[in-house]
Amino acid sequence: MDARTYVARWLVDGLGERVREHGLVTVERGRIVEVGSARSGRVSSKHDVDLGECTLLPGLVDAHVHLVWNAGPTPHEEVALEPSPARTVLRMARRARAMLRSGITTARDLGATDSLSIPLADAIDAGDVEGPTVLAAGRAVAMTGGHAWHIASEADGPDAVRRAVREEIKRGARAIKLMASGGVYDRTARIDQPQLTADELAAGVAEAHRAGLVVAAHAYTPTAINLALDAGADTIEHGSYLDEPTALRMRDAGRYLVPTMMAAHLIARRAERLGTPEYMRRKAERVRDAVRAAVTAALRIGTPIAGGSDSGGAGIDHGRLAHEARLLTECGATPLQAVAICTSHAATAIGLGDSHGSLEEGKAADLLAVRGDVSADIGALADVVLVVKGGSPTDP
Ligand SMILES: [Zn+2]
Repeated sequence: MDARTYVARWLVDGLGERVREHGLVTVERGRIVEVGSARSGRVSSKHDVDLGECTLLPGLVDAHVHLVWNAGPTPHEEVALEPSPARTVLRMARRARAMLRSGITTARDLGATDSLSIPLADAIDAGDVEGPTVLAAGRAVAMTGGHAWHIASEADGPDAVRRAVREEIKRGARAIKLMASGGVYDRTARIDQPQLTADELAAGVAEAHRAGLVVAAHAYTPTAINLALDAGADTIEHGSYLDEPTALRMRDAGRYLVPTMMAAHLIARRAERLGTPEYMRRKAERVRDAVRAAVTAALRIGTPIAGGSDSGGAGIDHGRLAHEARLLTECGATPLQAVAICTSHAATAIGLGDSHGSLEEGKAADLLAVRGDVSADIGALADVVLVVKGGSPTDP
């Protein structure tokens, strides 16, 4: 593929605080080969694209999605009613395409029935299906009857957890998800109920790390978060009741919080219209209020944060990560920090920081152009003009 240069009024590299006026990015053979200034009127070749009054930034990275879930009132139960895995995976392909068109060029899938996220990720890589690069965990690993067991492999005892992790690795998982506590979707388990034990978490993390995989631990309260951190988990999913000592511990250890703020917000807001059960609405309302305080504290303390949507959950349509960015700014992040959290920080959190998540020479040519200046208005992130993945443009 020939080199192509994209020029825009604003350029945000995804790394931090800098916005460049009249920036350009040149891509060639799927990689970024130049990031620079367009003042000298560089749009010359017929392949070049002048995006005008847009911001050019890295494609978004969503560290927490469920392609297998349908965003319906009870996705965790509805997934068990799908007529066949083949039919399910075709629905997943449609959701993956919606995510890509919203500007998400990389995503980590943290739980799918039958490990269906893995063949889907392979199909996307092969070009059979349009979608973001998917880092798939396959099935999550939960205790018997544990959180979201429909999308998990149930395992009890360290040996069984080790085997469950090995099974997903055998199927081709590129991430591992462990359920360390109850959650919003569980009818009976409380959110603060610890689930996989210290021994089980340690066995699962050790096995994943031996294979070079990042471990995501679902945990809401300090008790479960600290158990997961003790075991060596790399990212804490939700973490909505994070307290200050735990936030400091995570900062000092360089572990990422993936707060998925939008999940509780959307479940609470849409529950009535969707017909989501009362127990879920009540839990989501409490989590929504708690996570705001947790993220505000984490931002102040400097705990690493990665953007994640929990897409597929009740009322959480795929491809809405811009909403998470907006909620982050309501907790004190600047628009550029929110962009960094949903691009380079998320890429680093999931282990792809060297190759994805920022506009830097040598990285994957995953670009997003949105109308307006995103550094002045985070809402611009939802006004997608162009998505480029691996150097190839997609229609928004
Ligand atoms: Zn989730």
